[in-house]
This record gives sequence, C-alpha cells and structure tokens, in this order.
Amino acid sequence: ARGVNVLRDPGLNKGTAFTEEERDALDLRGLLPPHVCTQEEQVARVLENFRRKPTDLEKYIDLAALHDRNEALFFRILMDHPDEMTPIVYTPTVGLACQQFGHIFQRPRGIFVSAKDKGRIARVLANWPRRDVKIIVVSDGERILGLGDLGANGMGIPVGKLSLYTACAGVPPEQTLPVLLDAGTNNPQLLGDPLYIGLHDPRLKEAEYDALVEEFVTAARETFPGVVIQFEDFANHNAFRLLQKYRDRIPTFNDDIQGTAAVAVSGLLSALRVSGGKLAGQRILFQGAGEAAAGIADLVVATMVAEGVDEATARKTCWLFDSRGLVVKSRTDLAHHKLPYAHEHAGVATLLDAVKELKPTAIIGVAAVGGAFTKEIVETMAAFNDRPIVFALSNPTSKSECTAEQAYRWSGGRALFACGSPFPAVEINGQRFVPRQGNNSYIFPGMGLGAILTGSTRVTEPMFMAAARTLAGLVTPEDLAQGSLYPPLASIREVSACIATAVAEIAFREKLAQVPQPGDILAWVRSQMYEPRYASARTAQ
Ligand code: NAP
Ligand code: MN
Repeated sequence: ARGVNVLRDPGLNKGTAFTEEERDALDLRGLLPPHVCTQEEQVARVLENFRRKPTDLEKYIDLAALHDRNEALFFRILMDHPDEMTPIVYTPTVGLACQQFGHIFQRPRGIFVSAKDKGRIARVLANWPRRDVKIIVVSDGERILGLGDLGANGMGIPVGKLSLYTACAGVPPEQTLPVLLDAGTNNPQLLGDPLYIGLHDPRLKEAEYDALVEEFVTAARETFPGVVIQFEDFANHNAFRLLQKYRDRIPTFNDDIQGTAAVAVSGLLSALRVSGGKLAGQRILFQGAGEAAAGIADLVVATMVAEGVDEATARKTCWLFDSRGLVVKSRTDLAHHKLPYAHEHAGVATLLDAVKELKPTAIIGVAAVGGAFTKEIVETMAAFNDRPIVFALSNPTSKSECTAEQAYRWSGGRALFACGSPFPAVEINGQRFVPRQGNNSYIFPGMGLGAILTGSTRVTEPMFMAAARTLAGLVTPEDLAQGSLYPPLASIREVSACIATAVAEIAFREKLAQVPQPGDILAWVRSQMYEPRYASARTAQ
C-alpha cells in the first residue's frame, strides 16, 4: 500500500509518526503535517483528548475511533494505562456502549453473520480480508453482561474482548476476528428502534438456531483452519448445550462458564491462603444458578476431585440459589445444569434465610441482581465466619451484589472480597483495603494465547484448573495483606504469559499441540507476544 491507502489502514497507519524516509518511500509527503511525532507524543495527544471527554460513553467512542485509525497506538495506550482504559473498552462501559450501539455506531468492525445468511455463511466469512485468523470471539447477543438480550448490539462484547486478547496477552490483532451471530432479538425496544443495527426479527427457535450455529462453526473452521472459537454472552439455554456439543470436536470454550470458573476458583484459592482453610472444608452458596454459577461449581468440584476428594462429597460443598429460591432435590423445575447441586434440603425462599440455614463460608454473587448482598446478609456471614468470603461478581457495576465499601464495612474489615466490576480502595479504621476484580480478563487472554500458540486441538478442563492455580500463585503476600485476591491489573501481560505457558504445557503433555515443543516454553510464549511498536519493517514493502 502507498499514499492515502497507508493512512487509511489502521494496521499500517502511524499517523504523524511516519519518519522522513517513510514519507518519501510511501508517497506520504504533504498528506501529513510536517512535524514528525514520536509515539510518546502521540500518546500524550490522545490522552489529552480522551481525558477531556465528559462521559465514559464519549471515551468509548473516542477509543473506538482510535482503534479504527491507528491500531498500534490504540494498543499502546490500552497496555500502558490498563486501569484507566480497561473499564472503557470492556466492562462496565462496554455494557453502556452495547445498549446504545445503534446510536453511537460509526464504522463496522468484525463480521456480522445473520439468519439471512443461511446457506452462504462460508461466503460471508470469505469476505474477511485475512486467512490467518487464529481466534474468533462469537456472540449472539442474547445475554450481554447482566443486561439481557441486546441482539446485534452485542457486537461490542466480541470487539472488546478481542482487544483484551491483544492488550493483555499479546495476541496479534490480525489473528483476531469478532463475530456477531444475528439470530434476531426478542428485545421489543430494539425491534421498535429504527436505528437498531440488527435484523428486526424475533429470535430463531431451537432447530433453526442450532442449524445456524452449526453452519457458522463448520464454515469458520474451514475458512480459518485451526481457529479457536470462543463463545461469549449466549443465554444459558443455549450456552451449556453448545459447549457440550462442540468441546470435544473443536478447540472451543465458553468464557462465561469456564473463564469465570477459573477466575473465581483462583480467588477462592487466594482467599483460603488468608483464612487458612481448604477447599474441601468450604460451604459455598451461589446467588444465581446460571452459566457462571454452574461453571464455578463444576471447577470447584473438579479441583477438589484432583485433590483426592470423592465427587459426591465435593458436589455437596456447593449450593445454588436461583430466581425461585434454594435449589433443592424436591424441586421439579430444575434445568439440567442445576441437578448435580440439588441437595436434600427443605425449600428456602430468601437468600438471607439460605445464609442463616446453611451457614456458608463463602457467598458468590452471579445472578446480576444489584444489591442482593444486603447489610444483614454480610453481617450474618461475618457472625459465624472469622473471614467470610464474599464475591460480588455480577457485571456491570449497577448489578454488583454489594460494593467493596459495603463488604468491608459490614464485616468489620474481615470480608475476603472480590468484585466483577472495579471499585476504588476503601479505608476502614485506618486500614486500607484494595479490592481487585474477579474478572475473567485475568484468564481468557492467556488461555487463548496458549491454545493459539500450540495450535491445540481442544481446550480442556485441566487447562482451566491450571490457569486458576497459576493466577493464584501470582498473588503475593503483600497483595493478600491489603485484601487483594488477585495480582494488579498492571501485571496482566506477565499473568497471561504464565497462564499461556501452563496451558501450553498441558497441550504438549496431552498431545493436543500441533507444533513442536520448544525447550523453554515461557521464553517461547513471551517471544510470540505482540508489541504495539512501530516497526519500520511493517511499511518497508
Ligand atoms: P445466567 O446464565 O443468565 O444466570 C443468571 C442466574 O441468575 C440464573 O440462574 C437466574 O435464575 C439467577 N437469578 C435471576 N434473578 C435472580 C434472583 N432474583 N435471585 C436469585 N437468582 C436469580 O447468567 P450468567 O452467565 O451466570 O451471569 C450472571 C452474572 O454474572 C452477570 O451479571 C454477569 O455479568 C456476571 N458474570 C461476571 C463474571 C466476572 O468475570 N466477574 C463472569 C461471568 C458472569 P434462574 O436459573 O431461576 O433463571
Ligand atoms: Mn461474558
């Protein structure tokens, strides 16, 4: 490419940072103002503008435009300012952006596959300009964060997640492809909105829906050989079935089920380092019984079984509480994924009563019911636990079960707390607590990187277990002393490199890998990670 075509290609464009030589070689003279900027100067300019934006939504739009203009600069900023940028490109702001997606829409990103494309999905995917795609994040938009059915507006999620794959784990941006599978929407507000970007049709029903997904998966695997397909924000009536269907066929995972599980188990392992307990001695009560709850409970059980506990005993440590009360054996309305946790017990109608009766050592909120962990619930937990484990994992912030401040204050500073959305540090009686996000962004980038680099033919449960252990192992005594159950977000590249290494070790050991095993896996992983630097080689063609 030459001239304006270089400036219009976000993968090639360096804007004002093109050197004198490059301006000559690429016919850019006159198309750019004369002063040659360094990347640092460009970063300063972007930040100045970004910080002037009055709202988070405006900041999201600003970053999206940068992403479309100069990819390296976008990732430079994302990587150097994770605490400031991650809440904008990902939860919580991405939720707001999805709700408004049709109204803030400027430029498409990724591939939209709709119900109208049945029979021609392979041709649709072939319109993507590259064949070296290694990871797809696909959503059908039916359960976006805790915000419900947002249809094609859900595209913000695959886009945001893949940005994190690159920023957090160094997956090269050209190897990522966001896909929105538009199977319709049942959201009446969107159906009535002329600016809604998706099909203005109700969602496909089961058989037709499954056929659409099947055609997409088959076409994607043919078009992009070896590609990992990560399912994201599907409603749970489809998510469990699709995971079951594809996990033994292709390299795939559902981050809402499995990534969440790994991050939560990791948080539990860290909490137990403080309280001194063992997983086997816990009683965990989940507020919610969907993808996140079942995923976490399943991985808790698998981890205990790996530690030598028998499965039936392990299952009994986990209790679920859904929209109709405590999940117990006598109920006849239970979906398949709840059955292993339906224990012998009388029905209980409220979460507070469930806490009083079961006396859990941990409560984990994953029902997207904001404020569900009331003062009385946290106080009750603190009454019979020296160090109650309280995880308020629902997203976005408005759905959080309680705030960090509430958890610490109501427990007299004794809660071992993690949150799905970011909360500021809290000071109580002169002690400073730094809550960290129990967010799958600690897990999925490294998981994806490990799977991609090895060309693993499957993504397996032991990989998630290893990811959870690896993440917990990176939490320092200093982190724990200030109440942090996760390492700082700023160390995310290192975290991802370690998780990718743990995943790769399993892929090699289990003969799932398609590449020869390097001598030093960690060094090899590090050497493959994308750096958002302007390389002169990228334009010297
Ligand atoms: P899901 O599969 O739709 O499950 C939601 C569950 O909440 C269902 O079991 C539902 O009950 C239950 N529920 C709804 N209202 C309730 C109420 N009033 N009382 C008790 N339970 C109630 O969703 P999901 O994938 O599990 O996600 C749930 C939440 O977790 C979302 O906010 C999501 O953002 C968050 N999450 C956070 C992370 C993270 O990294 N921190 C990761 C994944 C998910 P029924 O089964 O009876 O319908
Ligand atoms: Mn999700």
